[in-house]
Amino acid sequence: LTQLFRPLDMLGMVYRTVRQGLIDMAEMFRLIDTEAEVKDVPGAPALVVRRPSITFDHVHFGYEPERTILHGLTFEVPAGSNIAIVGPSGAGKSTIARLLFRFYDPQRGRILVDGQDIAKVRQESLRAHIGIVPQDSVLFNDTIGYNIAYGREGAGQEEITAAAQAAAILPFIERLPQGFDTEVGERGLKLSGGEKQRVAIARTLVKDPPILLLDEATSALDSRTEQDILRTLKKVSAHRTTLAIAHRLSTIADADRILVLDHGKLAEIGTHGELLRHDGLYAEMWARQQAEKENDGVLES
Ligand code: ATP
Repeated sequence: LTQLFRPLDMLGMVYRTVRQGLIDMAEMFRLIDTEAEVKDVPGAPALVVRRPSITFDHVHFGYEPERTILHGLTFEVPAGSNIAIVGPSGAGKSTIARLLFRFYDPQRGRILVDGQDIAKVRQESLRAHIGIVPQDSVLFNDTIGYNIAYGREGAGQEEITAAAQAAAILPFIERLPQGFDTEVGERGLKLSGGEKQRVAIARTLVKDPPILLLDEATSALDSRTEQDILRTLKKVSAHRTTLAIAHRLSTIADADRILVLDHGKLAEIGTHGELLRHDGLYAEMWARQQAEKENDGVLES
């Protein structure tokens, strides 16, 4: 009987969560997917991270058995490096992020963090080490301070202020009459896309994870805001192992290494310069995006 009611319980929980406006990507996935998809092995140990490297070792994965999305993907993100994943729409970029956060387990192959198979450690210990700055940050209907502190239970005001400063949103907050106690969200202050992103960055800084997963905004920020955010993210990702999923290639041109994914396979790998010289898929995508930019420039002027 419990089995029968569990899905109903879950639906109720998701509904209440959505109604309260408590929508958060990780939280939503936790409610909808994780419970159904992956389970901890009984007695699984906690992940212990000393050198936060990431390894995909011949990973095969499909959401449905008849349709494989990743075909034996192998790559390494050395500790402290900054790696970008690019590729055509549907290539499997976000799927890699979902697997790393263990919303799903691979059907074959392994994903290692600091040499430990993430399928064999406790999920909560894995997720405690990874900070996600998602495409579209959704905030809780609560104060701006709460939204930042949510990064880690028990965070004090000093840490929250420091994180807001590092995310370059402190001057904005200090100008608000109620400062950190300002209500945001549906019934409170509406924040712009760029401000929301900064709150999400501050939240991640409070969490202070050794691994960062950046899912680049597809929703367009104006180019000055975007440049500002990129500068902030660059500072935040220095000294952290960073995996950035990018749609606009200009945002990741200085990554230590760029992985070009095509149909769930690694098509090319190299630095921006190397990939341009290689004159393959990346060079083609780059030329197309440059041409689009020039066209936009013509339209704007
Ligand atoms: P984009 O650049 O458009 O965001 P992507 O490279 O991030 O694309 P993914 O989101 O990883 O692509 O999707 C890869 C493939 O997996 C797509 O064909 C997509 O339709 C499929 N897919 C994604 N999520 C699911 C899901 N929950 N169930 C079934 N198929 C899915």
